[in-house]
Amino acid sequence: MGDDWGRDEAGEAGCSGCERRLNASHSDHARLLLSRFVAMSAFLGVRPIVGAACIALLIAACGREPAPAPANVVLVTVDTLRADRVSFDRYALPTTPFLASLAEEGVVFEQAYAPSSWTPPSMASLFTSVYPTTHGVTSGGIRDGAAHRQPVLGERFVTLAELAREAGYLTIGVPANRHLSEELGFGQGFDHYYGEAGFLKASEVNREVLRLMQAAFGPNWRLERKRHKLFLWVHYFDPHDPYVPYEPWTRVYDPGFRRDDPQSPAFLIMKDLQKRFPEITPELRARIGRLYDAEIRRFDDHFAALWQELGFGDETLLVMTADHGEAMGERGRLGHSHSLHEEQIHVPFLARWPERLPRGLRIDEPVGILDVYPTLAELMGAPIPESARGRSLVPLFEEGFDPSAQARTVPLYYELHRPRTPTTGLRSGRWKLLVERRKRGERRQLFDLEADRGELRDVSAEHPELLERLTAQAEAWREALERGEAETRELTDPETLEQLRAMGYVE
Ligand SMILES: [Zn+2]
Repeated sequence: MGDDWGRDEAGEAGCSGCERRLNASHSDHARLLLSRFVAMSAFLGVRPIVGAACIALLIAACGREPAPAPANVVLVTVDTLRADRVSFDRYALPTTPFLASLAEEGVVFEQAYAPSSWTPPSMASLFTSVYPTTHGVTSGGIRDGAAHRQPVLGERFVTLAELAREAGYLTIGVPANRHLSEELGFGQGFDHYYGEAGFLKASEVNREVLRLMQAAFGPNWRLERKRHKLFLWVHYFDPHDPYVPYEPWTRVYDPGFRRDDPQSPAFLIMKDLQKRFPEITPELRARIGRLYDAEIRRFDDHFAALWQELGFGDETLLVMTADHGEAMGERGRLGHSHSLHEEQIHVPFLARWPERLPRGLRIDEPVGILDVYPTLAELMGAPIPESARGRSLVPLFEEGFDPSAQARTVPLYYELHRPRTPTTGLRSGRWKLLVERRKRGERRQLFDLEADRGELRDVSAEHPELLERLTAQAEAWREALERGEAETRELTDPETLEQLRAMGYVE
């Protein structure tokens, strides 16, 4: 490994989390979870799960023999990773050889989508299976006079980690993105959490995972962890800007790179990069692409090392996806969070669990990362709250499933909120509608993704009836959407503010 892969820097031994798991009364957890479900259902204006008669559901699946749950669940999310740059999604370069080898033994969703194009709304949706308007985590920093405030993921939601905990898993989370910190509500349900300020590189992420494994299971964690069910979430950050060269990866993917080259886009945060290069030339796109690829490979190599270090095998369910993509000059834009076009929301998504899932299956039905929550809930044997707006993908794995019977009938929706141009997106079969609500009026665009994956040609004028029908569908969906306002928290820690400033999130 070419940089500081820190396997020996784990912290103090101790087992507070598993003690708590082992000692806590299951019925206490069930009662707490039930009260949260009822509160969440009331907030969302829906019936509490399946009614009082099925309270026992919280402990056992209703009327069905539960299938064996995975021994471990590993959820890997990668910041800013667009689907068409991972090698298991047919990219020409081997950016993710390790993931590609896992993908051969699992299921790849070739059309997977984030509900928004940046971290807080997307990840809050992944963890709650509700759309951004409902959880309300739709903006980043909010300036309130001199104060810097950020929305917090509300406690009224039962997060995926809470479901996992209820299903008997010890939960560990290591997010490398400052916007996913404990104080912003993303630590809910985790027994052990890297909740500090920080944008970590892959080697630091791995080090934190190993530290928390020791904290959870003690010095003999390699043996000890096998006596528990583990839910591990790891969020890597490497492909996010600034595009930073690291050896040996840059040498392979960008052999001509020179640190002193004034024309290099390396090291610049997006805001500065855009200022420095107002014109996006093909050469700039290629340079950014090479640095981006090297960072993806760096993540893949580190994740491979972590997987091996933790000793996971076929008993472990792995789900890997991303919070959003990245524009590489499409429509004259770089970065993300400013539109809902494919390059910013189409993400990789694979699931591997050789003991139960099919091997080598590729599914091209559009799915959303909101589906991760109900899918994992079903596989872990946890109840799926009625509030979940995603769907379990388990039926798609099952033998005899006929994609043509259901194919492309389940619509997907996307959202972008202020301070960006408020936009609603709808994917229905081959069609994608985008409705931008601008100051000077609405702008509607319709794309045929089967004929035009890059969304280069707006076909609204050719399909006026379809345009009206999909607009009405998107509007009806938006009208019916439960609205939640997230509370905000003032960030005061100077180090946090400095890190946010360094990344361009705070002026
Ligand atoms: Zn992100």
